[in-house]
This record gives sequence, C-alpha cells and structure tokens, in this order.
Amino acid sequence: MIVSENVGEALLQTLYAQRALPRGDELLTHVSDLTKCLRDVAYRRRGYTPAPFTPSELAKFAIGHAYEENAAKTLREAGHEVQENVVVAGFGLDTGHPDFIVDRALLVETKTTDGGAVYPKSHKRAGELKEVSVNHAIQASAYALELELPKAIVLVKHAGYNHDEMAHVIEPEDYREQIEHLARQVVALTGPDMPLPPAVPPSSDVVPYDSCDYCKWYICHENPHHAESTPL
Ligand code: SF4
Repeated sequence: MIVSENVGEALLQTLYAQRALPRGDELLTHVSDLTKCLRDVAYRRRGYTPAPFTPSELAKFAIGHAYEENAAKTLREAGHEVQENVVVAGFGLDTGHPDFIVDRALLVETKTTDGGAVYPKSHKRAGELKEVSVNHAIQASAYALELELPKAIVLVKHAGYNHDEMAHVIEPEDYREQIEHLARQVVALTGPDMPLPPAVPPSSDVVPYDSCDYCKWYICHENPHHAESTPL
C-alpha cells in the first residue's frame, strides 16, 4: 500500500463502500419485516432504490454488528455452544437472520441504542428502568417460535451517561398471536403485484419502530425528506 496524505480518507471510503453493500435478499419477505411499516417493505420488494445511508449511520450499524459478534464470541469462550449464521423462515415469510443461539435453547437478539437504560429526567417515568421494546421482543420471539426454542433474550447495550447492558428475557409464546397477524399482513399486502399499502404515521412506540423521520424511502409522501426520486 502506498501511504499518501489521503490515506485516511481512502480508508474511510473503503469502509463506507463495503458497509453499504446490499445483502441481495431485498425482494424477499424477512422476519424483521414484522415490525416495519408495510409501505417500507413494499417499496423494497418492488426493487426500488432507497436513499443511501450516511457515513454516520453506517458507522453506527458497524457498532451494532461488532457488539453482536463480541457477545457471541465471549459466550463461546465462556464454554457455551453458540450457533451463528442460522437462517430462519417461518410464519409464511421467506427468510430471517437471528443473531445467535446459545446451548440450543436460548435465542439471543442483540441491540445497541443511543438511549440510556432508564427514562431521562424529562420523562414522566424518570429514573425507571426501560422495558424491552415490543418490536424487538416480537422479532426475537418469531425466531424462537420457529426454531422451537423455549426462551429468547433481547440483549441491549445502551449508551448515554454510561454503557449499561440489559438482558430482557422473553416468553415467545406471549407474542405468537401478534406475530401470526403481522406475518399475514406482510405476506398479503407487500408483494410487488399488490396495491401500495397505506402509509402509517411516525412513531417510536408502536409499529413501525423506525419513524418516517428516519425512513430512507424519500419517494413516500409521508417522508419529511420527500422527493419524487425515480425508482429502479
Ligand atoms: S416514510 Fe413513513 S409511511 Fe412512508 S414508507 Fe417510510 S415509514 Fe412508511
């Protein structure tokens, strides 16, 4: 490698380009679609091109991947059997990628968030520990139910004043009915030959987890960054 004064920028560009590569299964239905806006899923399944993630967003995702890899590696080094790269379909959906399975009994989904583990001073529940996100619980439960695993854990690494880790234990059966309902909707309403599903208002508390503010489908009229970009 020739080291020039631009080597730092070149390294960053390589990281951004590699992190931005599509997975190649965009046209399929995913277990993670259960908690997304149906219109978001429909755009992807039509083969439309979303606005690209920013370098900052890509770096944030890289932290999430690294946390997942570290948790799996650490548990393996502690003597547990850890299965990674498992592919799970189920509930009529085409595919899904759970983070890892521990000792053939426990489904683990890892999440990283900028938010702290307790509600901030400005919140009416200031100081209380946050519960698990229902969307994270649904996703973990769908994998666990399909794999016939009795328990799931959503392992969350918070940020903020500190880096608290929370291990939320989930009873997958508690979410079965909801998962079946959501999966029917994804399968029935997001296909490329279907009418475009209705837009949903932004919210961080209910489905969809990502609000329109963060959505990359600028073609959608609900998106605050709306632009009549040309699909495909
Ligand atoms: S902008 Fe909002 S309504 Fe439109 S696709 Fe995105 S999340 Fe759905």
